[in-house]
Amino acid sequence: MKLSRQTTLRSQATVTGVGVHSGLPVSLTIGPAPVDAGYIFIRTGLEGADREVHATADAVIATEFATVLGDREGPLVSTAEHVLATLRGMGIDNATIEIDGPEVPIMDGSAAAFVAAVDQAGIVTQSAARRFIQVLKPVQVAIGDCVGEFRPFAGGFRAEVEIDFANPLIGRQSYCFDLSAESFRREISRARTFGCMNDVARLWSAGFALGASFENSVVFDETRLLNAEGLRFRDECVRHKVLDVVGDLALAGLPILGAYRSVRGGHKLNHAALTALLSDRSAWRVVESETARRSRNVAEVGSSTVGGLIAPAYGPDVS
Ligand SMILES: [Zn+2]
Repeated sequence: MKLSRQTTLRSQATVTGVGVHSGLPVSLTIGPAPVDAGYIFIRTGLEGADREVHATADAVIATEFATVLGDREGPLVSTAEHVLATLRGMGIDNATIEIDGPEVPIMDGSAAAFVAAVDQAGIVTQSAARRFIQVLKPVQVAIGDCVGEFRPFAGGFRAEVEIDFANPLIGRQSYCFDLSAESFRREISRARTFGCMNDVARLWSAGFALGASFENSVVFDETRLLNAEGLRFRDECVRHKVLDVVGDLALAGLPILGAYRSVRGGHKLNHAALTALLSDRSAWRVVESETARRSRNVAEVGSSTVGGLIAPAYGPDVS
């Protein structure tokens, strides 16, 4: 079956923009990668040779304002989460992400430009069966009053995200998201990065968010939304948090079969929860889509095992 196979991009596609923290211009090109490669960032434009880093939880070296990937020589690429969310969200298993600067371009603050790039590049199926990380038991982490928890879930990948901001214009919002290429595109991909004016000012004074503007961020002050064009969704903020969850958990290296609940979370919490899951070898196992299909056909196994929704849930959005 086509949908149970791994996928990659058919060709390359390029987006150009600026980094939200550096404010510097950058060009990013997504392209095909072999079976079992996962997501590989290739940093070009350096004085020496190009450097590569696999987008995995091990490669995360900072999470304070954005997800930064690097190696022993130091940071390589930051603000990786929106392009990774797009690749995972659109059901792509293997891809290269070439970048000629230190930071993924922020574009409009959402994943829309990366979705357009995937549409332009096209998606092809590969010869090998798709593999998944199946969550076998609950794993929870807490950081202050933030909680992140994985638990087994039979229907593919589900994100349950709650936010609770003091700013009354954001306030409490929650979103339950069942991942498919179609739901990612429709519900999540267009939700933009957001912040409060006080926080933006604090970031500026720390030398971050130098490229932030109303072109790429939803900004609130205490009494109003400062963007003239308004919101794309009434609950755009929590939808963006879902986008970040999909991107941060793409660092698992394989699609996850399970549910992930995040309360007041961010990149740091998502990374801590993913690290806790992956470091407990009794909490997960790798399953292949063909294995999943076979186990579904064994009557005694029942509905607690990997269900029939898997392949469609992660299928590429192709017609
Ligand atoms: Zn984000």
